[in-house]
Amino acid sequence: MDFIAKNVAELSPSMTLSITSQAKALKKQGVDVLSFGAGEPDFNTPTHITAAAIEALNKGQTRYTESAGLLELREAVAAKLLIDNNLQYDPSQISVNCGAKHSCYNAIAATINPGDEVIIPAPYWTSYPEMVKLVGGIPVIVETKAENGWKMTADEFEDAMSPMTKMIILNSPGNPTGSVYSREELQAIGEIAAGEDILILSDEIYEKLVYGENKHVSIASLSKEIFDVTITINGFSKAYAMTGWRLGYTAAPKKIADAIDTIQSHTTSNPTTFAQYGAIAALSGDQQIVADMRDEFDVRRQYMLSRLQGIRNVRVVEPLGAFYFLVNIEPMGINSVNFCEKLLSKAKVAAVPGVAFGAENTIRFSYATGLDVINAGMDRFEEFCAQH
Ligand code: PMP
Ligand code: GLU
Repeated sequence: MDFIAKNVAELSPSMTLSITSQAKALKKQGVDVLSFGAGEPDFNTPTHITAAAIEALNKGQTRYTESAGLLELREAVAAKLLIDNNLQYDPSQISVNCGAKHSCYNAIAATINPGDEVIIPAPYWTSYPEMVKLVGGIPVIVETKAENGWKMTADEFEDAMSPMTKMIILNSPGNPTGSVYSREELQAIGEIAAGEDILILSDEIYEKLVYGENKHVSIASLSKEIFDVTITINGFSKAYAMTGWRLGYTAAPKKIADAIDTIQSHTTSNPTTFAQYGAIAALSGDQQIVADMRDEFDVRRQYMLSRLQGIRNVRVVEPLGAFYFLVNIEPMGINSVNFCEKLLSKAKVAAVPGVAFGAENTIRFSYATGLDVINAGMDRFEEFCAQH
């Protein structure tokens, strides 16, 4: 007897998470592994944030909150979205969830019917197609080109549309490519979506990690029509080094926000109460820490770019945001899973196979790790590529 539901049987486990645990397990056994797997800041959560959560615990903030999260936190999120993103959401349009991953899933579950098509530009974050499949939707993958900075053009979007298209997922700055869409590019895509009544799920989790002259733009800020079809998603993991706190949020038109809240009220209820107090401190406290972490990521990015550009047989596009390099290994003539397995077993370097992101012939390195690890890891990678 097969007890597993059909939709679930067709899912693949998250490779980003499994590579990271594999590397951790090897390290525990004493193997000298250099891990570029996890998309997880190596910084500790700033102490004013941890202090706020500890204080909340000590004050007895250990009970349920409103299912969508504390009003005080949703007010702080609304204020952040107004100041940073020029988005005017009422706190009743905001739902705080158990990580931005959960926010994405809630948004998809609230809007996608079985058979609905969801356009996902590739390379994509590994979980989007699986979430769509889990609710019976159909992921429609649009291959983007390295020469376009791995960004989907308005024409490519139009070509992928069908009468069944319900949603498009945008992720700028993007994982795994580091691509950052310009205002004009977002405007063009947003106008098409609004004109066709297609929802936009805009995952802005890497908003604060943008380098050089590039600017993050929230697509929902570009017009009222685009605002009305957009679900904006963000969270605390990347900007404030709070991955383990599991806090993200959705901001959406009221009907969608209500649907998300209903799902949450029957599934997880509120995200952990004392963690929410940490999030209030994150949003209301000093934002210089966010810029400082970004600057540190930028130093690593520039160093790693110079190293990767010097390695024969691999190609790389400069990432403009987030903390990843998507490296093209096509000239090596080996698939991404085998490549990563060999890289781990022979060179003791952990990276994620591009196939997890719909980008066979590539591998992903995260540079959310110290310069010493990057330096040693690039030495090993260079030697590995020279030998294979
Ligand atoms: N979106 C993207 C693009 C991501 O890379 C991640 C990875 N952590 C998430 C959402 C989810 O983040 P979290 O659940 O930790 O808030
Ligand atoms: N998003 C990060 C990554 O892509 C963390 C792991 C995950 O949630 O998938 O590596």
